[in-house]
Amino acid sequence: MKNILFYLLLTLFLIFSCSEKEKTVKEKKKNEIIILIQPFKDVKQESVKLVEEGIKKLYPNVKVLDAIDFPDNTYYKERNRYRADSIIKFLSSQTKEGFVTIGLTSKDISASRGNIKDFGIMGLGYTPGKACVASKFRLNKENSDEQFFKIAIHELGHTQGLAHCPEKKCFMRNAEGKNPTDEETDFCRKCKTFLINKNWKFNSI
Ligand SMILES: [Zn+2]
Ligand SMILES: [Zn+2]
Repeated sequence: MKNILFYLLLTLFLIFSCSEKEKTVKEKKKNEIIILIQPFKDVKQESVKLVEEGIKKLYPNVKVLDAIDFPDNTYYKERNRYRADSIIKFLSSQTKEGFVTIGLTSKDISASRGNIKDFGIMGLGYTPGKACVASKFRLNKENSDEQFFKIAIHELGHTQGLAHCPEKKCFMRNAEGKNPTDEETDFCRKCKTFLINKNWKFNSI
């Protein structure tokens, strides 16, 4: 009798722990966002492809959308630039729950910074946020696609909740108005650990 009771309890325990495990797997899947790449019509397809491949190595759930025009309200005529904050606002409004959108462009983009009303930038993303944007315009011509990926992954890092990082080699380094991307090699250990909790994949930490 004692034995029967023991096995009964054991079975119940196993069933319970299995369903708990299933629940955490399901929970994880539910938290796994999809990254949408939204190219604007000016950007070359091959540049989009290279950014896509780069992101996919670290986060496989990526989908590229058909290229679109900039909404009229994002254009800043005086400087022939597009306002990054307006672009993000637009992209966020198109982004459903469980998705994050990154806009890619080769046009110049800008945002207000301190007292400067219109400051040219390489990318913008809020921490955290539903959308961000990266521009090729200010990047070095020789390796612009490699730098483009680094800007994109930096802005996506912001959307995931990562702030700027003091590590000089880390993708989350603060550009401070310059372009230090050539010195960046990877996310640092601390930033990787943060992203792994958001289901990002890294071969090594
Ligand atoms: Zn940043
Ligand atoms: Zn870092």
